[in-house]
This record gives sequence, C-alpha cells and structure tokens, in this order.
Amino acid sequence: MLQLCPYSTVVFISQRRNNSINRVSMQHKKSELYNKTVTDSLIQNYRNIIVETGEDFEREGLLKTPERAAKAMQFLTQGYQQDAEKVLRSAMFKEDYSEMVIVKDIELYSLCEHHILPFFGKAHVAYIPNGYIVGLSKIPRVIDIFARRLQVQERLTDQILHCIDKTLNPLGVAVVIEASHMCMMMRGVQKQNSHTTTSAFTGAFQRVETRNEFLTLIGSRLH
Ligand SMILES: [Zn+2]
Repeated sequence: MLQLCPYSTVVFISQRRNNSINRVSMQHKKSELYNKTVTDSLIQNYRNIIVETGEDFEREGLLKTPERAAKAMQFLTQGYQQDAEKVLRSAMFKEDYSEMVIVKDIELYSLCEHHILPFFGKAHVAYIPNGYIVGLSKIPRVIDIFARRLQVQERLTDQILHCIDKTLNPLGVAVVIEASHMCMMMRGVQKQNSHTTTSAFTGAFQRVETRNEFLTLIGSRLH
C-alpha cells in the first residue's frame, strides 16, 4: 500500500530515445570525436590484439576492423571529454514546482572497467525541485556522459546522483540502475539471467515513504 508523503503529486515520464535527434547530434560531433593521433594509435593496438588472437588482420573481413574498433572505442568513451554539470546548467529553469519528477526506463550502455566489456540496462532518476527544474532530455544526456567511460555500476550511480544534486540543488535525488554485465554473462560465472541493481538517494529520498513512492512508481522490487 502506497503511503502518502509530502510529495504525493507526481510527474511521471517514460523516457524513450528520439533516434532522429540522436543521429543529427552524432553527425555534428563526428569531426571532434575522432582524434587522428588517437585513432592511428588505437588502430595499431587493435591490429596487435587481432594478431595475438591468432588471426590475420590482412584477411578481407578484418581489413577495416582495427579502424572501426578504434572509432567505436572513442565513441564509447567520449564521456571523458564532456561536462555533465555544464549540460544540466544549460537547461535549468526557475520554477516554483516542488513535486517529485521522475524519468524512468532510460536506456543505458556502458563498459565495465575490469574487462572492457559492455554492461547495459535501464536507469531511473527522480528529483524534487527546489526552485529550479531542468529540461527532461538532459537527464538521459547526463547518464550517457558518465556511462561512456570505463565504469563500475556503483560509481556510475553515484556520479549521476551527485551531478544532479550539486547542479540543481534539489530537495532530494534518487537514482536506480538495473543492468546486465557481459563479463558475467559471456565468461566467468556465465549467469545469463542475473541483473545487478544499484541505488543511491539524497535528501527527501532518505525518508522511507518518499523513497518507497519512487520505487513503487518505477516498478522496482527494491523496497
Ligand atoms: Zn567486468
């Protein structure tokens, strides 16, 4: 049974990516994303990796693979060059609104720093404004900026939380990430159906009623 709390009116948004917008912004960034020196160095390194696995990098199917892999790696780690606080500050609006704002089911793709293999899943974020709200598309952007680095899920959760907390100074922030790790699924323990859930809360979300309301609305079994 959901208990009423001071923040009982809820804005509830299911976030879906708009592919056409993503494509346009990716094209725009292409030139600055792939640094020639870095690309050349990565190409050499990926050639070595291919040779060490016993393959021939001059085989037709692999000819362009080192270059593709070099570019993919730079794309997947572009978060190091981006400033998440700046992205939030660029879309902050003064607003006298103090109900819980939830953005749920945000797609998330990252790389585990232990094996450089993907982990992926969903993030759910909520905050309770304290004079400022933020353009809702910026929350998935913040997640991408921290996810496109070598990560552990726990630190990723904390970085998203602290970025929103520090920039918006809200009455509370909540972040839940549910993810599957390829390093567990493809190798090691090979547990295909296990998911890792991490969560972090500040301010008003430390109250059990507020936290439970959030967890109920995102459909989590954490509470
Ligand atoms: Zn791993």
